[in-house]
Amino acid sequence: MSESEKLSDIKDLGEFALIEQITKNFKLKNKSSHFGVGDDAAVILISDQEVSLISTDMLIEGIHFDLMYTPLKHLGYKSVAVNVSDICAMNGTAEQITVSIAVSSRFSLEAVEELYAGIYLACEKYKVDLVGGDTSTAVSGLTISVSVIGRAKKSQVVYRNGAKEFDLVVVTGDLGAAYMGLQLLEREKAVFKANSKIQPDLDGYDYIMERQLKPEARVDVIQFLKDLQVQPTSMIDISDGLASEILHICKASKVGCHLYDDKIPIDTKTSLTAIDFNLDPTTCALNGGEDYELLFTIKQEDFDKIKGNPHMTVIGHITDEKDGIYLIDKNESAIALKAQGWKHF
Ligand code: ADP
Ligand code: MG
Repeated sequence: MSESEKLSDIKDLGEFALIEQITKNFKLKNKSSHFGVGDDAAVILISDQEVSLISTDMLIEGIHFDLMYTPLKHLGYKSVAVNVSDICAMNGTAEQITVSIAVSSRFSLEAVEELYAGIYLACEKYKVDLVGGDTSTAVSGLTISVSVIGRAKKSQVVYRNGAKEFDLVVVTGDLGAAYMGLQLLEREKAVFKANSKIQPDLDGYDYIMERQLKPEARVDVIQFLKDLQVQPTSMIDISDGLASEILHICKASKVGCHLYDDKIPIDTKTSLTAIDFNLDPTTCALNGGEDYELLFTIKQEDFDKIKGNPHMTVIGHITDEKDGIYLIDKNESAIALKAQGWKHF
């Protein structure tokens, strides 16, 4: 390479621009490759009516988890749950996983078995089978990569790109708790590092800690939607925070939206902890991430079917693309939602 050729720094690009850059020129060849890059899972045709759903997620020590406060069993559970969540986001059912690990010699057999105890617990919970994987040594640390295979009727698959003007925006559960759990664990870690005689004070924080350490995929919500005969028009799971995910839906669907600040479901403990940390609870819900709740849009006529359901909250509506993507706050002022820079580069 000549000296005049300037290399681009990937940290200026961000995760999504990087993915787009490396995948945009690839053309799908096989008829069975129904939908490739760009949604929560790829969609592979297995018959005229049925599809296979495939997704991969990687967890890396020092980036995605800190073993100072993450029990290996929880980590194993989480690595499966976050993958199952991507199948939920397509309105499908997860059936198999493969698990690949790279482990440095710092880890004992018992440690790896503990990780797998969590993986097996999640396999029980989500009724998925471990059908393969790969194992390697690593120079340092621990990396876990899980792939999940799911199934759905072709007509039931929900993509990110189907939201239409006037659709309602719905979110499941509550948001921001996983982020506050992380803040708390990081704070206690810092206290412990400064003085190892001080034991972590995590009493009363069970909910937010569990949301961080042992998230669940909303397979229950996928079943509710089936029972209620609601087919969302678009859907995504919330791994990177509400703001980032609604932007994905709006971009893929070529629409805008209005979300209402006071409608965003936030647990009381999350709010109190946020205030304690001098953080705005709404900002935590918008940008925190790792809640693994579902964000979806429904037709207005389906509202009566979900009305009063304690697991689902309408937080706004879809608008025309040229209206933009806004959060309306209590004073009725509109704040443009922006993608958060990513944390991992
Ligand atoms: P999610 O947050 O739902 O796990 P990601 O943001 O990780 O999704 O990925 C977005 C899309 O880009 C997905 O379709 C994923 O399969 C694809 N993708 C991510 N990284 C790569 C890569 N290195 N090569 C090809 N496709 C990728
Ligand atoms: Mg996803």
